[in-house]
Parts: sequence; C-alpha cells; structure tokens
Amino acid sequence: MITASAYKGKKVGVFGLARTGVAAVRALEASGAEVLAWDDAPERQAAVGPSAHNLYDADMKTLDAVMLAPGVPLNFPTPHALVVQCREAGTALISDFDFFEAARADMARHKIVAITGTNGKSTTTALIGHVVSECGKPAAVGGNIGRGILSLDPLPEGGVYVFEMSSFQLDLTTGFKADVGILLNITPDHLDRHGSLEGYVAAKQRLFEQQDASGVAVISVDDAHGASMAATYAGRVVPISVEKPVAGGVYVLDGLLTDDMRGDALVVADLRKCAPMLLGSHNWQNAAAAYAAGRSLGLEAETIISAFTSFPGLAHRQETVATIDGVRYINDSKATNVDAASRALKAFENIHWVAGGRPKEKNFTALAPLMTNVKQAYLIGEAADAIAHDVGADVTVTDCRDMEHALECARANASAGDVILLSPACTAFDQFRDFENRGDVFRALVLALEGERS
Ligand code: ADP
Repeated sequence: MITASAYKGKKVGVFGLARTGVAAVRALEASGAEVLAWDDAPERQAAVGPSAHNLYDADMKTLDAVMLAPGVPLNFPTPHALVVQCREAGTALISDFDFFEAARADMARHKIVAITGTNGKSTTTALIGHVVSECGKPAAVGGNIGRGILSLDPLPEGGVYVFEMSSFQLDLTTGFKADVGILLNITPDHLDRHGSLEGYVAAKQRLFEQQDASGVAVISVDDAHGASMAATYAGRVVPISVEKPVAGGVYVLDGLLTDDMRGDALVVADLRKCAPMLLGSHNWQNAAAAYAAGRSLGLEAETIISAFTSFPGLAHRQETVATIDGVRYINDSKATNVDAASRALKAFENIHWVAGGRPKEKNFTALAPLMTNVKQAYLIGEAADAIAHDVGADVTVTDCRDMEHALECARANASAGDVILLSPACTAFDQFRDFENRGDVFRALVLALEGERS
C-alpha cells in the first residue's frame, strides 16, 4: 500500500467507495489521517467500517481535502451535490493521483509513466508494464486499468510505476507530475461528462500541464488535437505517428518501427514479424508510444523490441479465443465505441461481425466503408436498428437480438478462413454487466462449440 507522511494528522473526506475509493481509505488511514468516507450506496458504506461518515453532514470547512472517485461528476452533466458543497466551503477536491504525488517524497527513487487517450490506454499500459519488467526493472501497473494506484506495493529503488489515466481522473487531478506522459489519440467520447469535445480535450491536456519542465510528453500527432498539444509542449515532446515520418520522434509505417529520437531515423523493428499480439496500425500506435516511453526511461531499444515479441496481449481486445473448423473467433468486447470497432474491422478480412449494445454515439455511418471486409453482420441489443440503418446498404445484416443467436447464425454462415468477430461499437450495459462480462459470455459460448480446433 502507498502511504504519504504529508497526510499524517490531516482530516480527509473520501467520496465514492468503489475499488479506488476503498484503496484510498486504507492508504489514508495507514498514513495517519483522520478519514471520513462516504458513498451514496449503503452497501458501499459498509466496506469501510468505522471510517464511514455521512459527508453531507460534515462541516466541510474542517476538512483539509475531499478525495473524489472518478465516477463523481465534477461539472457535467451537473456538478454532484457534494462537489457543490466542497466548493462552497472552499475545500480542496483531490484525486488518488494527487495523494500518490504527495507520497513520492517518501518513496525509493522511481519514475512514473502515465498513459491517456480515447482508445488503447489499457493495451499500452500493460505493454509498458511488460517492457519495463522484461528490461529487468521493478514495475507496478495500476489506475484506470483496474487496480487502484494506492493499493500498489511501493517499488524498490529504480522501479517504474505505469498508470492508465482516464479523462475523469485527469479532470480531478491537480498536481500530478508524470515523468513520462503519453497521449495516444483523441476522438469524441464521454462528452456528457465533459460538456463538450473541448472539455474532453482539456481534460487530456491536464496530463502535460501538470508535468514538470523535465517531464517527457509522448504525443501522437495523427489527430488534430494531439498535433496542437505537441506544438504547445514542443520543447519536451516526443511525437509519434503511424501515418507519417515525424522528426525527432518515433513512427511506424508498414509495420516498420523507426526511431528518430536522435535524428538518425533508425528502423529498429518490423512489428509485422516480431510483435504477434500488436497487429494493426492502432496497435502500432501503442507500440510506438511504448517504445518512446521505454527509450525516455533509458531502456535499451533491443530489449524493448524483444519484450514486444513476448507481450501476451490483453483479454477482450482483439483476443483470439479459438480457431474451430478453420474459423477464427475473436473477442473484441472492449470496442465500446465506433473508433475502436473500426480498428478491428480494418485489421481483419472475411469477417462475420457481431455488433450492437447500448450506443455511445449518434450514428454508425463511419463504419459503412469498412463493410468491404465484412461478409455479414449479426446485430444485438438496443443499437441493432441504428447499425442496420447506417451500414445495411453495404452488407447483409440480421437482427439476432442476443449474443447466443448471433453466434449461432454467424457459425452457420462462416467457412474456413473466415473470422467471427465480436467488436460491438457499443457499451454492454443493455444486456450485460459490463464489457468484461459480455466478452466472457462470448468466450464461454465459443469454448463450448464442437468442431476441430487448431
Ligand atoms: P482503453 O483502455 O483506452 O479503452 P484498450 O487498450 O482497452 O483501450 O482497447 C480498447 C479498444 O480499442 C479495443 O477494441 C482495441 O482493439 C482498440 N484499440 C487499441 N488500441 C487502439 C488505438 N491506439 N487506437 C484505436 N483503437 C485502439
């Protein structure tokens, strides 16, 4: 667990008691702080025992800070009642990343890499954690990827913390100084929580705003937002691209990873050959970011590349579940938006595409041109009609209602060499607990199929 002597004797509220909140309560208690922890859900209040205290009744002025969970709306659609109460009392609002920053003074020498972007965060976070470990350094991975950063064990001397940060976490954080900050890409997402695309972009930019002048900013310049941020922080940016050569940066064209950080445009790897779990240009973007981060940490190019080769990939992200009777089944349940699904649809051919769920975006028209790679689409959930409307002119679509039917129909139509791809372009909340549950259901159905496996 992470502790911060700076919090000894402080009185701190914690609001929102899911995984990160509970980890924060423990860390604050272990640091010697007086903790008032609360959640609107009674069952969550029970998780923190005697620290549970109705924060709405507290005198906010007596609190040194209130730590908010990333799920608590700061400004949009409307500020949460507790946020309003804190602001009226002038109480500082902080996140677990701010606490971590305060704890750094007590820690053995270390570095922090923080990753943000609309898509690819978890993959890149896991990849960098893997690279650092394979290079023989202690590594700890946490944040939005699923483990509260305050529940991590402190690393020994020379360790590297690798943190995935969502836009919500960045919005809440005021003083977090990543040694290496990474922005992968920006496409519209979570606009309800940020008020507008500008608000969403501004949240992402906070990663670089808060860094010290010595902090490295690894920024993809393939979208206009990244390109403009790269210009803002020019002195300390390592630009990355999967579309064009970038002077002083790292780029991947046709799978060739090129390192121009020293201006010599050295081709260091052919990712098509050496990185089996990093297929497709979106994964090359992740690899370029991981390479740039690794080099910025002083890791050897060769060791980084060899770590790419052994990277096992992540579940639910273009995960091959099985090949049965020559048909490959791929679970890309994490593709909860149009852009993420478009990556998978570009990465494969002869696809039987299982898609749908609760839509995040207004339409799916951006996917219509990719139907050249799709033999047939099998739609489920609330978005079935909308997807059929937007891509139905370009491909045969069937409304299968649920996953079981969709898989049954796809299997009946697929022949050897085809791919059955779950890449929903929607969230899972209409029919499943979350994207993991949706992917697990798909995987279980596939694993129960009969046929010859290869
Ligand atoms: P995040 O943590 O940002 O949601 P993940 O690594 O979990 O990202 O991947 C989410 C989805 O986005 C997956 O469907 C994956 O195939 C796709 N994806 C991965 N990397 C990228 C990228 N760099 N750009 C666009 N899509 C990506």
